[in-house]
Amino acid sequence: MTPFVHIDADAFFASVEQAADPRLRGIPMAVGGRKRGIIAAASYEARQLGVYTPMPTQRALQVCPELVVVSGNFEMYEQFSDWIFGMCEELTPLVERSSIDEGYMDFSGTWNLSQDGIITKVQKLDKEIHEWLKITISEGMATNKIVSAVASKLHKPNGFLVVPKGSEAEFMGALPLSRMPGIGPKSVEALRSIGAQRIEDLLTLGQERLHPFLGKTTDSFLQLAQGIDDRRIVLEREPAKSYSQQNTFAEDMGEEDKVISHLMTMIDDEMIRLRDEGKQARTFSVRIRYTDMEECETSRSLNEPSSLENDFYPFVSPMLKKLWQRRVHLRLVGVRFSRIYDAFEQLEFFDRKRQRLRQLSHTIDQVNEAYGKYTVQRAYRIGMNSRGGGKRRTPFHP
Ligand SMILES: [Mg+2]
Repeated sequence: MTPFVHIDADAFFASVEQAADPRLRGIPMAVGGRKRGIIAAASYEARQLGVYTPMPTQRALQVCPELVVVSGNFEMYEQFSDWIFGMCEELTPLVERSSIDEGYMDFSGTWNLSQDGIITKVQKLDKEIHEWLKITISEGMATNKIVSAVASKLHKPNGFLVVPKGSEAEFMGALPLSRMPGIGPKSVEALRSIGAQRIEDLLTLGQERLHPFLGKTTDSFLQLAQGIDDRRIVLEREPAKSYSQQNTFAEDMGEEDKVISHLMTMIDDEMIRLRDEGKQARTFSVRIRYTDMEECETSRSLNEPSSLENDFYPFVSPMLKKLWQRRVHLRLVGVRFSRIYDAFEQLEFFDRKRQRLRQLSHTIDQVNEAYGKYTVQRAYRIGMNSRGGGKRRTPFHP
């Protein structure tokens, strides 16, 4: 068996706050935007008293008046994340960081370890993380990614579940549909209405009946539902992981406005990918290459991660000014998003403006998926030649 171990830190933001400040330990506390008014993470003490995520901070304080709410310190969470994954990488070089507090380890080829040998290593890792970082993680071990990921979430906090080889389909099938990664709460509701309670019910319903709900992902969900998954570990250095792209200009580029439009289009493309995959990013980098091949790069970070174009647009012009100091034309620009987080469900639920922006982005994604890229465009693209050889369409002004 190729053993995959999925790790998932427990109540991560809240646990890190408790680890960093002993006064927060053992009490109901939560990380919440006072600005946005939503609880993003709650300590287990707070969960026991009825605080959950996402919940409006005001509601949380009614349910649990003694709740201590602190605002998020994402730089600190990233530091803890680096420490956790650094410890994982001491066990195997094949570590995939799928978000700030979740990731996969692949033990194939590292040593000729038996399953028990790997279990011992993982238990030791768990203990060391707890002793050194004062936070707990949960682990799942299986022959593939999907089963290990599902297993790590079943016995939280600080659980470790091993799914034996050969029992993957049985293990997945018996679980409630809500345990299936990638199917959101709304789809779970919709699928319940046609009779799917457990994951195995997807198989009974079959391709045709599921297609209206799951679309082009139906076939892959049918595989995953049987615990079949042949995806490999994706390492950070591989381009697929990094949410990045670059664009070589057809002719050397000397116009700042056009470069800015190109950069914004690339932001749009990557934000679509992030939203599609339920992720968000905190750090944005821009790279330029002059016609004489000299390169420069610079990065900026938001205080909180985001998957909304509008949060990154304001960086573009000042970053380009900082980079493009020489009076030499450009041949290439690139963007990269890093510090990847899982999307906080409806974090901006009570912030009307952000909610509208999110709805707008989703609507644009849907229209463009149905009718072709750049059917709906943002105003800054007016005057740009459409990339990819698509037909020029009437711009829409969001
Ligand atoms: Mg977690």
